[in-house]
Amino acid sequence: MSKIEATAALCELELKDGSTCGVTAIGRCVTCGRAFCLTHQARDLSGVIFVGYVSVGYPDMCTSCQEAMQAPIRKEQEEIRKEQEEWRAAVEYFKSGAARTALLASGVQPVEIFRVEHKFKEGFLGLGGRYINEVSSFGRGWLVGESQWQFPWQKSPEYHLIVLPDRLLSELIEVGPYSGGYVFQKYIDLSWSPDPPHKWTIAAAQAVKRLVRASN
Ligand SMILES: [Zn+2]
Ligand SMILES: [Zn+2]
Repeated sequence: MSKIEATAALCELELKDGSTCGVTAIGRCVTCGRAFCLTHQARDLSGVIFVGYVSVGYPDMCTSCQEAMQAPIRKEQEEIRKEQEEWRAAVEYFKSGAARTALLASGVQPVEIFRVEHKFKEGFLGLGGRYINEVSSFGRGWLVGESQWQFPWQKSPEYHLIVLPDRLLSELIEVGPYSGGYVFQKYIDLSWSPDPPHKWTIAAAQAVKRLVRASN
């Protein structure tokens, strides 16, 4: 046995079949203390220089410890991806009209929505005048949840009730309570895709499905 063979450490990482790798080691992992070979050396594959990728090997970390370190990041990315998928499905549920159709067929009673306009009313012969609230009917719809907005300039979030109108006015609208019913506040633009997606859009789609199920 030559001197080199006697001192060369062998890779101590496990292969998929449970056996030990055993290839000549190039370094030792500071985290788990095992010797690793070139294949089992942790690498940073994110760097790009001029032409193609460059892979930088970590001198003191094995692939197993790198995977363990990246697991929570991957889990978080997976959760974000799942939430985005749920959000897209919820938007599609409202945009396609499927949610409205399901509620119309369910027999769940919609609520009254009013429109209140602040108008200037001229006085007799154009003299004087005052502002009045003109109340008209906006239509009917189903309460499906609560939206929450917070813009950078706002100290606390704004809450609104979400209504799915029973006619094709808009996918969803925001309303506030109003004597015996609700008052229209604004249209919700579902084509705008926020990042991260609004959880309340997902919750509203779930609420529609619950309402429909409960009525059956
Ligand atoms: Zn390690
Ligand atoms: Zn190895």
